[in-house]
Amino acid sequence: MTDARMSSISDIFRIGRGPSSSHTIGPGRASLLMMERYPDCDRFRVTLYGSLAKTGRGHGTDRAIAETFGDIPCEILWEPDTDPGSLPHPNTMRFEGFTSGEKTADVRIMSIGGGAIQVEGEEREESSGIYSETTFGSIAEFCRQDSMSLSDYVFYNEPGIKEHLRAVWAQMRSTIIHGLEAEGTLPGGLEVKRRAKDLYIYGSRNRDLVKKERFLISAYAYASSEENASTGMMVTAPTCGACGVLPAVLYYEQQLFAPDEEQIISALAVAGIIGQVIRTNASVSGAQAGCQAEVGSACSMAAGALCSLRGLGMENIECAAELAMEHCLGLTCDPVGGLVQIPCIERNAVGALRAYDAASLSEVIFDNRKVSFDDVVLTMYETGKDLSSIYRETSEGGLARLYVNKP
Ligand code: SF4
Repeated sequence: MTDARMSSISDIFRIGRGPSSSHTIGPGRASLLMMERYPDCDRFRVTLYGSLAKTGRGHGTDRAIAETFGDIPCEILWEPDTDPGSLPHPNTMRFEGFTSGEKTADVRIMSIGGGAIQVEGEEREESSGIYSETTFGSIAEFCRQDSMSLSDYVFYNEPGIKEHLRAVWAQMRSTIIHGLEAEGTLPGGLEVKRRAKDLYIYGSRNRDLVKKERFLISAYAYASSEENASTGMMVTAPTCGACGVLPAVLYYEQQLFAPDEEQIISALAVAGIIGQVIRTNASVSGAQAGCQAEVGSACSMAAGALCSLRGLGMENIECAAELAMEHCLGLTCDPVGGLVQIPCIERNAVGALRAYDAASLSEVIFDNRKVSFDDVVLTMYETGKDLSSIYRETSEGGLARLYVNKP
């Protein structure tokens, strides 16, 4: 495990527009950084490499960059065939800035997942360390010594984070409500029909309580993910592509049990610290480690948050987070057409249901585990690095390839 200090959980929860944290929010933030650092540049050229070049059109990377630069002219070049070994990260951008025709800036910036960026040769932009503990095991040990809950550990280290989490929860609710009302097809040309409203109606009217639960959780996950796919406002959790999992389970719990907002904020804190442990020791980027790093991480976060809401302890939280991730291992990233729609939207619903199952299982099996959460995080990262690049957000393999080749 790395010995870097962990940054704020606000890096896990960013409020912005979809459909992809690494392909729209990250490039947009990188463009803004260039404008701030080089205010004299009157023209930019941005070259996209790796996953950004292969799926950036479907994800809207060019639009995110152009919108950020606004009136400043910006040329975008696509370089999908560059040797991945020559790149510092699968999501690399080269920004060249010009002032009166002369090149005055030449910087490579990586979009490292969840909307975070890193300038080549520099520390992560948000790497000011807040948390001394960087593994779940060391955090749990700290909490045990001070008889502290996991959410209290977050509030102890980040006294001001509750305000951000309230804004996060407000946006998550708003995204779901908007998504449940919307109808029609999603943009991008795949003609994917919005299904959140159908699922909600079917679930609401269902007399079978088990089915009702499954359909409503799915409806909430679809609502967030469909909003994301249509460039609506959402919250990364930990990414845009996986933005449906955590809000779905929290919203369902709120509708059913009406916990007060402080309980939801505590659950978000638990989800956030789980996400940060994954991000610090492995990755939350589909381009780096496949969908197990996105939806798998979201599953762990949601499972831990559910345990917190149910008043379960540290061992249940760890067990649920571990279970949720363990059964996402090997999950590939193969978005059809480079859009965050197929398989992404369904996958969020399945992820939310898996998080529910993991939290429930943890109530019984938490006390006899053989695998730690930290171990499964490392396993996810090792597995991700072993995945062929065609399964890491390049749309060159899996469903993306089959769909394209279908007669
Ligand atoms: S397959 Fe998973 S990781 Fe890939 S774009 Fe879709 S949600 Fe993101």
